[in-house]
Amino acid sequence: DNRNLFAALRAAFPQDLDTVAVETDNGLAYSWRDLERGTAMIANLLQSLGIEAGARVAVQVEKSVEAMMLYLATLRAGYVFLPLNTAYQKAEIEYFVGNAEPAVVVCSPANFGWVSKIAFQAGTHHVFTLGDDRTGSLLQRAAQHSDRQEPVQRGDDDLAAILYTSGTTGRSKGAMLSHGNLRSNAEVLKEYWGWKQGDVLIHALPIFHVHGLFVAIHGALLNGSRMLWFAKFDPKKVIERMPDATVFMGVPTLYVRMLAESRLNKVVARNMRLFVSGSAPLLLETFNEWKERTGQTILERYGMSETVMLTSNPYEGERRGGTVGFPLPGVQLRVRDDQGNEVPTGEIGGIQVRGPSVFQGYWRMPEKTKEEFTEDGFFKTGDVGKVDGRGYVTIVGRSKDLIISGGYNVYPAEIEGYINDMPGVAESAVVGVPHPDFGEVGVAIVIPKPGAEVEPEQLIGTLKSQLANFKIPKKCFVVNELPRNTMGKVQKNLLREQHKTLFA
Ligand code: ATP
Ligand code: MG
Repeated sequence: DNRNLFAALRAAFPQDLDTVAVETDNGLAYSWRDLERGTAMIANLLQSLGIEAGARVAVQVEKSVEAMMLYLATLRAGYVFLPLNTAYQKAEIEYFVGNAEPAVVVCSPANFGWVSKIAFQAGTHHVFTLGDDRTGSLLQRAAQHSDRQEPVQRGDDDLAAILYTSGTTGRSKGAMLSHGNLRSNAEVLKEYWGWKQGDVLIHALPIFHVHGLFVAIHGALLNGSRMLWFAKFDPKKVIERMPDATVFMGVPTLYVRMLAESRLNKVVARNMRLFVSGSAPLLLETFNEWKERTGQTILERYGMSETVMLTSNPYEGERRGGTVGFPLPGVQLRVRDDQGNEVPTGEIGGIQVRGPSVFQGYWRMPEKTKEEFTEDGFFKTGDVGKVDGRGYVTIVGRSKDLIISGGYNVYPAEIEGYINDMPGVAESAVVGVPHPDFGEVGVAIVIPKPGAEVEPEQLIGTLKSQLANFKIPKKCFVVNELPRNTMGKVQKNLLREQHKTLFA
């Protein structure tokens, strides 16, 4: 019995392999047979290189169906897929390639010069190129191989991928995920989100991250569902194709950008049955506005590179805005205080999880791995949250973003919620900075709505009438945008750095 994830995905392909599996935004159609043959040829190429089992295949290329095939081929051939953010530059690639020591590196044709140099220095012998227009040496070489290949035997615990975390709180760590981690999560989500015959997925996310690579692609493939493939997210184009689709997955900023389009309405969304949001907190305002405009309730879920998906709002039953729903079947989730004691229902603490999708550890960081697990095998997520009486989980922020002011815990998400509710405010971030008397104090960075004026003094005055004094930010800045990484996550470490000497 082969536990290779590819075998499970392949088994779900429709009987008629000549139907369309992927339709791209530049007018191409790939059949299931194309996926089957293309991944076999690339897998055969990889296997012909004589690299050892467990070897890493590091990939930094623009999004394309062939790039997805390269992922599937890597699984198929029994190697470990290591996707890299397309935004990464020299210093970052040097770190990742040096750290991961891949046997194979695949990069964009335009980057071959500098990437190959870094790769060779790290001892990599095989560097291929892959363009987003089917150019490059990878496909040229693969074309010389057979289009038949038997998926390599893998066990549940064998590594399938190393996913570097988004680097929101510091340097990215390589999360090692096994075939069992990924397959179990994909199977649970198929049930939980009610994937069914005839579903069509709009795929508009990058494929170097857990959301686009695993949740979206596994979801569609395991259901034998067609994908409408967008190389880049373009709100107008996605809305145009919405009538032909049933499922969409996005990070919150994608929803915000679609809401800014006048063509978004109930008519274009009439065939959609599921909108999923995750990777960063979805503002309640976005959740409500989406419901008004499309008549559909966004389903918010929560997960991370280290664990794949952990919680989800229900498919049937109440999807509660501002919460990330219930622990998925098989996931044990608990909330602990700093001493490791269970906190009462509804109280805030650190979120810990255990389950079949929790990773095998950080790549080459045994100490860090050990630190992040409890004695009884729970992973400390680094997220702070609570579970209410009905079991809904709410994330209130990250433990690294927690502000301790005069000995009191201040949760930035709470303050941000009040600020975001004020007229003229689009969004905000509250971060802690050093203060000689209080240890730390909060600073609010506020983004006004287009055309609106926000008065910092007045904003702080309003907060004072709403919240205890120790929670009030000591300073407020009105700026045009928040620093975000490529996943749309607010980089609070940069804001802290920027304001760290305010009171020092
Ligand atoms: P790093 O670990 O390198 O600092 P990162 O944690 O942002 O970066 P990812 O693994 O991509 O890297 O992101 C997982 C994190 O994203 C979670 O730990 C959580 O903080 C946040 N997240 C994911 N989904 C949600 C959600 N629905 N609501 C709030 N936060 C979310
Ligand atoms: Mg993280």
